[in-house]
Amino acid sequence: MSEVHEVPYEESELYRIRHSAAHVMAEAVLEFFPNAKLAIGPPIEDGFYYDFDLGKDENGKPKTFSPEDLEKIEARMKELLKQNAPFEHSTMSVEEAREFFADQPYKLELIEELAAGKLDENGNPIAEPVKEVSIYRHRNFVDLCRGPHVRFTKQVKANAVKLLRTSGAYWRGDENRPQLQRIYGTAWHNKTELEEYLQRLEEAKARDHRRLGRELGLFHISPLVGAGLPLWLPKGAVLRETLENFLRQAQLERGYLPVITPHIGKLDLYITSGHYPYYKDSQYTPIDVDEEKFLLKPMNCPHHIEIYKAEPRSYRDLPLRLAEFGTVYRYEKSGELNGLTRVRGFTVDDSHLFVTPEQLEDEFIGVVELIQYVFNTMGFHDFRARLGTNDPNSDKYAGTPEMWERGINAIRQAAEKVGMSYSIEAGEAAFYGPKLDFIFRDVLKREWQLGTVQVDFLLPERFDLEYTGEDGRKHRPVMIHRAPFGSMERFVGILIEHFNGAFPLWLAPVQVVMIPIADRHVPYARQVAAELRAAGMRVEVDDSSDRMNKKIRNAQLQKVPYMLVVGDKEVAEEAVAVRTRNNEDRGQMPVAEFKEMAQGLIREKSMAL
Ligand SMILES: [Zn+2]
Ligand SMILES: [Zn+2]
Repeated sequence: MSEVHEVPYEESELYRIRHSAAHVMAEAVLEFFPNAKLAIGPPIEDGFYYDFDLGKDENGKPKTFSPEDLEKIEARMKELLKQNAPFEHSTMSVEEAREFFADQPYKLELIEELAAGKLDENGNPIAEPVKEVSIYRHRNFVDLCRGPHVRFTKQVKANAVKLLRTSGAYWRGDENRPQLQRIYGTAWHNKTELEEYLQRLEEAKARDHRRLGRELGLFHISPLVGAGLPLWLPKGAVLRETLENFLRQAQLERGYLPVITPHIGKLDLYITSGHYPYYKDSQYTPIDVDEEKFLLKPMNCPHHIEIYKAEPRSYRDLPLRLAEFGTVYRYEKSGELNGLTRVRGFTVDDSHLFVTPEQLEDEFIGVVELIQYVFNTMGFHDFRARLGTNDPNSDKYAGTPEMWERGINAIRQAAEKVGMSYSIEAGEAAFYGPKLDFIFRDVLKREWQLGTVQVDFLLPERFDLEYTGEDGRKHRPVMIHRAPFGSMERFVGILIEHFNGAFPLWLAPVQVVMIPIADRHVPYARQVAAELRAAGMRVEVDDSSDRMNKKIRNAQLQKVPYMLVVGDKEVAEEAVAVRTRNNEDRGQMPVAEFKEMAQGLIREKSMAL
C-alpha cells in the first residue's frame, strides 16, 4: 500500500503545545496590560501568535509592544508555564458568552459570527448557527476556543518556548479594521528542538535569496518596473536558461512539442475555461482593446487548448504533449510579495498533454517519472507527494463527482505502479480536477511545493474538445496539466537558498574564474578562457589590479566553483593551478586535463567539484 497517513498538524502534540503557549502568553500580556483587548491566537507553522489591541497613544496611533515588553512577557510566561494549572474545557450559551466577554469587543464579534452561522473562530465558513460556544480556561484566563490543548500548562516546557517578534496586523486581515499588535512565538517538545529551530532560523536568514540574489548579481527588483516583477540579471538569466534547457532536452526526449503563446487573451477565453470569474481576485483588471476586453494571462491552459483545436485531431495525434515556458500574471497583495518566491508575474514550465482515456495512466506515469528525474538531477532527494482532492463541502470545484472519481483513481493507480507513496489532502485540488503535488524539503527542513501534475476531464468538456477514434466516431480527450519546477522564479529562489548560492557546476552562472598572478600572465589567462569557452564553459578573467589572494577571495565570495591561477610556471607548461570555492588546492594540471574533468562533471550534472 503506498498511501501514507501522517498525523495532520492539527491533531499533533506540537499543535496543542503551541496553542497552549499562545493562551499562556495572552495570560501574561493581560498581567502587564490589563486593558488589552484580545483578538485571536492560533498555532501556525513552527509556532504561534496572538493579536492584541493595546489602545491608542496621545497621537491616536495604536500602542505597540517594546522589545523590553516582549522580554518581560516571555519571562513571566515561563513562570506561569511552570505552575501546573490544568486546561479545562467547557461550553457557554451564546447569551452567557456575550455577558462574559462584554468588554472584549473582538471576542464579541467572533461570538456573533458563530451565533449567526457565518464564521468560526478561525474565520472559516460554518454550516449553521452555533447555540453554545466552546471555552478553554486555565487559572483565571478564559478564552473563546475550540482547542485542543495540553492537559497541564507544565506540559509546555518553559525552556522550549521563545517569543520571536512583534508586528502590526489588521483585525480579520482587513485594512479598514483596527490595527492590532501581534506577538509571534515558537514552542517545541524540548529545549534541543527549540535550539535546532532557532539555528535553522539563523541559517535561513544567512541564506536569504533576496540578499544572495543581490550579492551574486542574479536578479533585481526595480521600484519603477514594479513590486513583484523581478528583473533577471545576466547571471540569473544564465542560471534560469540552463534549467530551462535541461528541461527542454528532457521533454524533447519524451516526445513533447514546443509551442509559444501570447501574454494576453480575450476575457471570453477565460470565461469559457472558468478561470474567470473563479479566480477573479487573483487576476488583473481586464484591458480594453478596440472595445474588446483582454486579460493578462493568468494560466497557459486555454491558449494550449486553442492550439489543440486549431486542427481536427484523430487518435493518431494523441498523446499530444504541448510544452511552453509560459509567463503568467497573478495578483498578490503587496505585503505578501517576497523576492522571487512570491511575485506578480512568473514563468511556468508548463505543459498540457491531450490523451485518450486509455492513455491516461501511462501518460500520468510518464510525467511522474519526468518529475522524479528532474528532482534527482537537482540533488533533491528529500521529497514527498501529496494527492490533492476536492473538498465535497466546498463549492469552488467544478465538474461531476464521476469526473473527480475517475481522476483520483487514475492518480492512485499511477502512483501504485511507480511505487510512490503519497499523502491525501482534501481541498488541495485545482478547481477542474485532482492533482499530485511534489513537496520538497530543503537543507533547512523547510517544505516547498514544487512540481505538480493534474488530471482534467473538465476543460475538454468546456471547450468541447474532440478527436476521431479508431472507430471513426468523435471522442473526448483527457488533459494532464503539469509543471516539474512549478514556477521558474520560485524554483530559482528556492534553489538559491537550498544551495546557499553555491550551485552545482553545471548550473553555476560563472563556472571558472581565471586568475593571472601578474599583468604579463593576462594574455595566457585570456587564451585559456577562450579555449574553455569554446568547449561550452562559462569563464571570466579577473584582470583587475587586485593581488592574487584578493582575486581568489572575490571568486569564492561569488561562489564560483573553480579558480584557475596562472603564473610563469603555468604559462611555460600550458597548465593551470586549480583551486575550488571550498578552499581546496588541487595543484597544477595541464589545461586539457582540467577541461576534460570539468566537462565530464558538467555533462553528468554532478553535485561534486
Ligand atoms: Zn485557543
Ligand atoms: Zn494548465
